[in-house]
Amino acid sequence: MDNEIKTPVKNFIRNIIDDDLNTGKHTNIVTRFPPEPNGYLHIGHAKSICLNFGLARSYSGKCHLRFDDTNPVKEDTEYVESIMEDVRWLGWDWGDNLFYASDYFEQLYEYAEILIRDGKAFVCDLNMEELRQYRGTLTVPGKNSPYRDRSVEENLDLFRRMRAGEFPDGSKSLRAKIDMASPNLNMRDPVIYRIKKTDHHRTGDSWQIYPMYDYTHCISDALEGITHSICTLEFEDHRPLYDWFLDQLPVPCHPRQIEFARLNLSYTVMSKRLLLELVKNNYVNGWDDPRMPTIAGMRRRGFTPEAIREFADRIGVAKANSMVDFELLNFCVREDLNKKALRRMAVMDPIKLTIRNYPEGKIEELDAENNPEDPSAGNRRITFSRNLFIEREDFMEQPVKGWFRLAPGTEVRLKHAYYVTCEELTKDAEGNVTELICSYDPASRGGWSQDGRKVKGTIHWVCAETAVNLETRLYDQLFTIPDLGDIEEGKSYLDYLNPDSLVVNTKALGESSLANTEPGTHFQFLRLGYFLADKEYSPEKPVFNRVTTLRDSWAKQKNKQ
Ligand code: ATP
Ligand code: MG
Repeated sequence: MDNEIKTPVKNFIRNIIDDDLNTGKHTNIVTRFPPEPNGYLHIGHAKSICLNFGLARSYSGKCHLRFDDTNPVKEDTEYVESIMEDVRWLGWDWGDNLFYASDYFEQLYEYAEILIRDGKAFVCDLNMEELRQYRGTLTVPGKNSPYRDRSVEENLDLFRRMRAGEFPDGSKSLRAKIDMASPNLNMRDPVIYRIKKTDHHRTGDSWQIYPMYDYTHCISDALEGITHSICTLEFEDHRPLYDWFLDQLPVPCHPRQIEFARLNLSYTVMSKRLLLELVKNNYVNGWDDPRMPTIAGMRRRGFTPEAIREFADRIGVAKANSMVDFELLNFCVREDLNKKALRRMAVMDPIKLTIRNYPEGKIEELDAENNPEDPSAGNRRITFSRNLFIEREDFMEQPVKGWFRLAPGTEVRLKHAYYVTCEELTKDAEGNVTELICSYDPASRGGWSQDGRKVKGTIHWVCAETAVNLETRLYDQLFTIPDLGDIEEGKSYLDYLNPDSLVVNTKALGESSLANTEPGTHFQFLRLGYFLADKEYSPEKPVFNRVTTLRDSWAKQKNKQ
């Protein structure tokens, strides 16, 4: 990661930490990123990762990576591995601080026995449906379970037998004994253990009972000496329970939970459940489909860690939920790639251009800069000949007012090459233009005239003799509406999938060097956008993903509607 540490922007979380350091409450800051390994990470997680690891970095503290793996039914080592890969790719390092909530299962169990002995937990025989009924609602208080007053001895005996696997799934649970009349539903005797006879991806068949998230999370934080436990706003109502468990138990410390607003991004969904559904039902091509808001998808699309970290910095942290425009992400990646990506020429929809006064059979080499933003990137040689291709949309037979590109009788600059004037057209039987016959000005080599004559248009091109065929994959938003939280009644988010989110173009042509690069290399195709050589790229089949266009074409398009 780059070494310069930007002066951090103040926010309410930093203010809390500063106070805690000033008052001496803490001397070392310890945060954590606690994903559940039940799916791939998405850009919302990236916000949380950059926040937690970023705080640790700027306060010279530590950030733990902890897998919150308490639900064996949905979790898998594939997810554990992808999460570690994604956090590393984003540029963060947890060092020795890799933890699993499942490593605390024994300790969590012992703490549960303490709660039972202290009369603060009981074994309940209500089934799921009954639990729900007894729980009450926001306006109706809950009712005590008929099993609430079991003796400590009976509770201990039943809980141990739950652990030993004597009872079927769902037949019993261990519940905290708090207050069924609490206005906060989370405090109404929440379940802390359930029976699940399912193997766990790390503990195998050792356990027949598994602790609930709310119980596990706060204790894990305390066992690891976390100072500030930062989570998203929906956990605000769970904070009293977080504090309750820690107050009842002989834990080594009492971390402070702080909530911030989760990231919502326009034109996409960010729930792991929905993302899993998109993958499982093949609406997209896997977790790393470049249209997915997953880190893996964004990486494959060609977003860079620097762009994502910059994005996370710019959105900052707040207490109120809001929607961030996807364009901000595009802006950040353009800023980054503008500095780094080598420039190349490619033509998406080629039309033939023949220079009638250029010698047949001659091929010359011209200099072209690799990146005008970075002189150290040097130059490359590109070939020029009588036979070229240009972009079909850079020609207009009957030009509209203000058209500066090629048209019959007009002169334009071919980037890095010469001035050309269109003199004639060839058409097929249906009247489509098939070839533009031009003349060139030999004195304009490099793209600058000798007599000071100016042209208004500069267009890109490729040399027919050396061009290579490319497959370009042009991506657009996965959904057609910005706010998927706001869909018509009776409709599903799937009804808003964008049928044009992927357009595969197999007729593109590019400079010959594009058949000689490595998967994962970024380019700017002049005037077209930023592209990445896909992981499926090979010299025989050069496949490029468009990361983003050069400008905000999406917004432009919407403004026109
Ligand atoms: P989902 O609700 O999509 O299943 P989750 O929040 O349950 O996701 P976790 O694996 O529990 O997923 O998340 C790990 C951490 O990332 C949590 O601390 C969570 O608060 C944070 N996080 C998840 N989604 C977002 C988001 N959209 N913006 C910011 N932080 C997020
Ligand atoms: Mg969660």
